[in-house]
Amino acid sequence: MNHSPDLDLYPNSRAARDAWILARRAGIARTKGLSPRQPSHWLREAEPNPAGGQASILTVFLTNKECPWRCLMCDLWRHTLEETVPVGAIPEQVERAFAADQAKHPKQAQWLKLYNAGSFFDPQAIPAADWPELAQKARAYERLVVECHPKLIREERILPFQRELGADTRLELALGLETAHPEVLERLNKGIDRESFQRSAEWIRRHDMDLRVFVLVKPPFLNETEALEWACRSMDFAFDCGANTISLIPTRSGNGALESLEARGEFSPPRPETLEAALSYGIGLGRGRVLADTWDLERLEADPIRRASLLSRLENGNRTQRNG
Ligand code: SF4
Repeated sequence: MNHSPDLDLYPNSRAARDAWILARRAGIARTKGLSPRQPSHWLREAEPNPAGGQASILTVFLTNKECPWRCLMCDLWRHTLEETVPVGAIPEQVERAFAADQAKHPKQAQWLKLYNAGSFFDPQAIPAADWPELAQKARAYERLVVECHPKLIREERILPFQRELGADTRLELALGLETAHPEVLERLNKGIDRESFQRSAEWIRRHDMDLRVFVLVKPPFLNETEALEWACRSMDFAFDCGANTISLIPTRSGNGALESLEARGEFSPPRPETLEAALSYGIGLGRGRVLADTWDLERLEADPIRRASLLSRLENGNRTQRNG
């Protein structure tokens, strides 16, 4: 009989899970050529606004130090640096994105997203000394959306930033709930539970900010039927917590850890029907905006014709917030 430990078994303790996840990064490269003075990417997109129209959005993907958490499904570290960037580098990145955007679009976007593959209010990622200047730059927009880990919702960091932003720019914080399934949430290794998420969400709403919530469609450890059920229950939970917007993210491999689970039959990406059904459920609730992430759809649907049709249906749902 073989008594050797099953090294591929996903561990139960936090420290062992961190090590297990890190070990599976071997051989997966970070994006080459990232510069602390250049955003890794920027783009224009549109989203339905609360008034029923479409808001044009400039989304800037900032280059900064990797997030300190080790979430099981995360591959964002691939687009980050190992060191904190110097003070002044992030405002410079934003200026470069503004200049590139202006060169391409005669009209300024209405909303600004500053996404940083981690938490905006993590001073290791975005030096705290830069927050006031970044708030000043965002004043030209009606809304600023930034990401934050629920445990970094700290009054002393966020309220001065909100004041600096001024009354004409709405602050929206984007938090990953990932799933409301208690055991799966624990196993995702994000270091939160439903209660801590709820407390952070309540704080955000109490301080007159908007809340965007990321929900995974088919996290590991769930089969297809459970995945749809828990995507729906997670949206119910997020709206109960006061979410204005929910972003549905189909879980994708690419970080090494999910590939390991896939080999054990503990993970597979969602079927396209599951993502569509989740979007349709969320829109049908009529409790806020629900958007499906349409990046990398080739991982969900290999056939190009079916993929184009899937993309068109998802984009239509995202844009109109209507089913059918
Ligand atoms: S908190 Fe977000 S960025 Fe950080 S590891 Fe988890 S999913 Fe990735």
